[in-house]
Amino acid sequence: MNKSTMNYYSTHNPVHRVPFSEAVVNGLAPDGGLYMPEVIPSLPENFIASLSSISNEQIAFTIARPFIDENFPDRLLRSIIKDTINFEFPLVQLDDQTCSLELYHGPTLAFKDVGARFMALVLRQIANTIQQEITVLVATSGDTGSAVAHGFFQVEGIRVVILYPDGKVSALQEKQFATLGHNIHAVKVDGTFDDCQRLVKTAFLDAELRKQFFLSSANSINIARLLPQTFYYFFGWKQLQKKESVVFAVPSGNFGNLTAGIIAKKMGLPVKAFVAATNRNDVVPQYLHTGNFMPRPSVTTISNAMDVGNPSNFARMLALYEENWSLMTKDIYGYAFTDDETLQAIRQVYQSSSYTLDPHGAVAYLGLKKYQHEHPGTNGIIIETAHPSKFPDVVENALQQPLPLHPTLQGLQHQQVQSVTCSSSYDDFKNLLVVLK
Ligand SMILES: *Cc1c(COP(=O)(O)O)cnc(C)c1O
Repeated sequence: MNKSTMNYYSTHNPVHRVPFSEAVVNGLAPDGGLYMPEVIPSLPENFIASLSSISNEQIAFTIARPFIDENFPDRLLRSIIKDTINFEFPLVQLDDQTCSLELYHGPTLAFKDVGARFMALVLRQIANTIQQEITVLVATSGDTGSAVAHGFFQVEGIRVVILYPDGKVSALQEKQFATLGHNIHAVKVDGTFDDCQRLVKTAFLDAELRKQFFLSSANSINIARLLPQTFYYFFGWKQLQKKESVVFAVPSGNFGNLTAGIIAKKMGLPVKAFVAATNRNDVVPQYLHTGNFMPRPSVTTISNAMDVGNPSNFARMLALYEENWSLMTKDIYGYAFTDDETLQAIRQVYQSSSYTLDPHGAVAYLGLKKYQHEHPGTNGIIIETAHPSKFPDVVENALQQPLPLHPTLQGLQHQQVQSVTCSSSYDDFKNLLVVLK
């Protein structure tokens, strides 16, 4: 494992290769492809066998080291990791064959905290190296904004501008990303989420603006958000009692989480299979059944962080399976579920295991049970991506009882939103970027 040699290629052009830092700053490759590590390093066999006696920080360091170049010396990488995973990743037993890996103990109560924090600290180092402030632009319809805001909060050398559509983000979500201040600027756009995305895209194409500011984007396709998501598959494994025939069920939207799981398996984690669980936005389960990938507009569901009609990480999944459908279907089983089934699963697991699932975790649970029905004797881990109290309406509707508000969310109620407003015109947005300090 030589730490200095890893480059990243574009899924649109395997010849285009760049070092880690460039892949992070670019986000998307200039040809529109996604960056992928040119090799998936394998871990020593004894690493897996001894996982339960290794600290999470050491596990994460061992996994991350070969992916990241020498601009990040060991000491720095260790400190980035320490700050990224400074919360718990408990594995909770639901029944004989099912555990829930809770990824929601970070600041915004969802797994996206891990990737956002890691990316923020990586960008801080890059800003430091180039001796220039980096402006991070991100459009959000909710959850991404809060993970990015908290991940980048008070990170030196970085200014974050979060665009969100006026009136289309819940009050609680808005408070999660628009109350922080300091280097986090929230911009409420008089328009739709698509307008927000257009403003960000136009800014990236604006040569004049880019002379003035060093721009980067924190969207979910960034390789620095993806890589640290491999860690928690190892954290889950480490806590398992039964380590035979292990299956991870992943509630999926853009399929970043699942892609990270596939990378973990390729590195040597002995996973039997993955369940790709979705709501009615079932483009990937359909692909797994038929071999045809047919993106389509998303529909709204109660597991709304997975309402994605054209999953951005699908190209990475294909790359990991050499564009080969039959290889992919040996590892990944796709299932999709309706909102009614999701509500029923929340109710049923509460009754049988006294455990409250969030709507996304509930979709994973349903997928796992369907898989286990076809494959008895397997040990399943569902990835619980968010704390149930982030979705009080859905969970209270399922359980027909009030849900206590998480203390983190309680504290937010008294915070003041500090966003500035902007029309959906690019010129207005550009003028705003110049004055935001
Ligand atoms: C983002 C998100 C997902 C989907 O994750 P992908 O990596 O995009 O598949 C699932 N659950 C929650 C709560 C999320 O915020």
